[in-house]
Amino acid sequence: MKTTTVVIGAGHAGLAMSRRLTERSIDHIVLERGEVANSWRTQRWPGLRLLTPNWQTCLPGHDYDGDDPDGYMPVAEVVATFTRYARHIGAPVRTATTVRSLRAEPQGFEIHTDDEALYARAVVLATGACTAPAIPAVAGAVPPPVTTLTPLTYRGPGQLPDGGVLVVGASATGVQLASQIHRSGRPVTLAVGEHVRLPRTYRGRDIFWWLQATGVLAERYDQIDDLDRARRLPSPQLTGTPEATDTDLNALQALGIRIVGRLGHVTTGGVAQFSGSLANTCALADLKMNRFLNRADEWATAAGLDNQLPPPHRFAPTRVDPRTPLELDLTTGEITTVLWATGFRPDHSWLGIPVLDRTGHIHHDGGVVTSAPGLYVLGMPVLRTRASTYIHGAAADSQALAGHLHSFLSSRCR
Ligand SMILES: Cc1cc2nc3c(=O)[nH]c(=O)nc-3n(C[C@H](O)[C@H](O)[C@H](O)COP(=O)(O)OP(=O)(O)OC[C@H]3O[C@@H](n4cnc5c(N)ncnc54)[C@H](O)[C@@H]3O)c2cc1C
Repeated sequence: MKTTTVVIGAGHAGLAMSRRLTERSIDHIVLERGEVANSWRTQRWPGLRLLTPNWQTCLPGHDYDGDDPDGYMPVAEVVATFTRYARHIGAPVRTATTVRSLRAEPQGFEIHTDDEALYARAVVLATGACTAPAIPAVAGAVPPPVTTLTPLTYRGPGQLPDGGVLVVGASATGVQLASQIHRSGRPVTLAVGEHVRLPRTYRGRDIFWWLQATGVLAERYDQIDDLDRARRLPSPQLTGTPEATDTDLNALQALGIRIVGRLGHVTTGGVAQFSGSLANTCALADLKMNRFLNRADEWATAAGLDNQLPPPHRFAPTRVDPRTPLELDLTTGEITTVLWATGFRPDHSWLGIPVLDRTGHIHHDGGVVTSAPGLYVLGMPVLRTRASTYIHGAAADSQALAGHLHSFLSSRCR
């Protein structure tokens, strides 16, 4: 079968691209291995809520229209929203169609699914940035009686054996799972590496309001000093709760969660060893948070909003107990589960085109895969702006890439 463009993946990014291609009357199909919003259906844990506020869950031609714009969507509502959107835009999605390989051809691309070969002049990869867990090599040394899980296999505290849980990683996923598991009555230890501390709200507004207002989310990829670092930055220590509570390390410790340093090593005897630099790591995160709050205050003053907002204030520095343990013996039975909340990575193992860098990420220029003309990627962190990391960023990204793709097809025709 021949078509002009194939979009691979029907998450929000693939759907946004489908809408943009339709706007430009570009013939296309969307191939999806599961159903629309498959990652949210099959790879996220029940109880997950978006950390971005509802008013930010917007897609091309669709703004949030529910009655709780300042709330945070539960995962089931995310699935329902994207499913409705796919229907609304008439996205030509072929579900249950897994792409097994993609090859460059003189006239475009050859795409193999389980059932057939397709030919397209352009391909958009929207297969997700978070489809596989990024687990450190040290995971292999965890002694066998300890259950190990990733956020992709975690479905809730009921799935865990009784006993203590070591959550490794204190970004958005780690802090959310640590507090959920703690509420089930299990003692939780949280291993904390580099992290991004932000308050849920500041001066009466959600932190994402501030990130948007100050222009942080609009910062372009080609104007960011250290783009690789920006793309690898951990997600902020934020969760979406109905009460909009903080889930920073002070809040977690107040609940009774123990924090320790970054997990560096597990000995052959099964002893987990933690970095001694926890205090420094936390001080750095506090410093960066305060820098952002300074920027927010300066922006508010310049915008003449000081009279309309509560006054500026600062948050207590992160408390770090000087007696924080540096080791934890995983063979004593105190810890029965290790949960690797150490990040996610894309899975491009099926790609047959040499466009990956040495870390397995696609080498691209703002979503344009320059080494394979006609190939595009969407839905990656800081793809074109810092907003690209989040759902709402796909609107502008898909518009820009659809424009590029349109010019590419036109030049091919000429
Ligand atoms: C735990 C977690 C919480 C998050 N919370 C938020 C949040 O609060 N707010 C926010 O804005 N962002 C959040 N994100 C980030 C981001 O929105 C998600 O990663 C989002 O799912 C990315 O959308 P996507 O469309 O690029 O990819 P996905 O939603 O992952 O969609 C990719 C699609 O491609 C399909 N696919 C993959 N490979 C193939 C193949 N070979 N053939 C056919 N189909 C294939 C998959 O089945 C999937 O449906 C979160 C991410 C995670 C992991």
